[in-house]
Amino acid sequence: MRLRNIPGARETIAESPWIVQDPASVKGKWRERFGNNHPVHLEIGTGKGKFINRLAQENPGINYVGIEKYSSVLIRALDKLDELQLPNLLFIRGDAELVCEFFGEGEIDRIYLNFSDPWPKDRHAKRRLPSKEFLRRFSQILTDDGTIEFKTDNRSLFDFAVEEVGQGGFKILQITYDLHNDPVMGEGNIMTEYEERFSSKGNPIFKYILGKKQE
Ligand code: SAM
Repeated sequence: MRLRNIPGARETIAESPWIVQDPASVKGKWRERFGNNHPVHLEIGTGKGKFINRLAQENPGINYVGIEKYSSVLIRALDKLDELQLPNLLFIRGDAELVCEFFGEGEIDRIYLNFSDPWPKDRHAKRRLPSKEFLRRFSQILTDDGTIEFKTDNRSLFDFAVEEVGQGGFKILQITYDLHNDPVMGEGNIMTEYEERFSSKGNPIFKYILGKKQE
């Protein structure tokens, strides 16, 4: 994602009612924070938030949390939420490395990873969100029947992600190498900003859905 320093972004984030300012203090209590007992779904690397705002709008019976590292991108997601005023969507400005500090064991029902940064150099492999290191963190916060949904147009990142699944403690439940032409996995697909950009260039979209490997 190309990042521009947007003046005032940090201040806007610090004052926004849609941002959980101290997510560690909500660990294990996210349902209380939302004021209901609904499932909690996360999107990690939410970017400008088109996907998660739309999901939250369409699924009032699910609580959503978007995590994004950069204020300059996240303020775009807040603009949308200011318009929509959805009670079932909150954001964290923070690094996904800290998910186990933000969420309790088994507190999350689903994690979405959309067009995660590819970190093409081998020495940066651990920074890729579908790496085994991140999958092990995600495993801790997911319920036993929790799932991870990952999509990308980057074939080498996807091949890497598929190889990491087992060591990360997961198994593949569904997979496609052409999401937009897959009658089963493509049904009801909500496009992200990156997905719109890359699929309009003719790139196929790859997607898997993972479940936990039962020990
Ligand atoms: N998901 C959006 C989409 O599909 O349009 C944005 C994709 S963009 C390529 C990846 C986003 O993930 C960026 O906004 C980046 O800042 C965020 N990101 C990358 N690593 C992250 C991390 N460790 N924690 C939180 N956000 C991260």
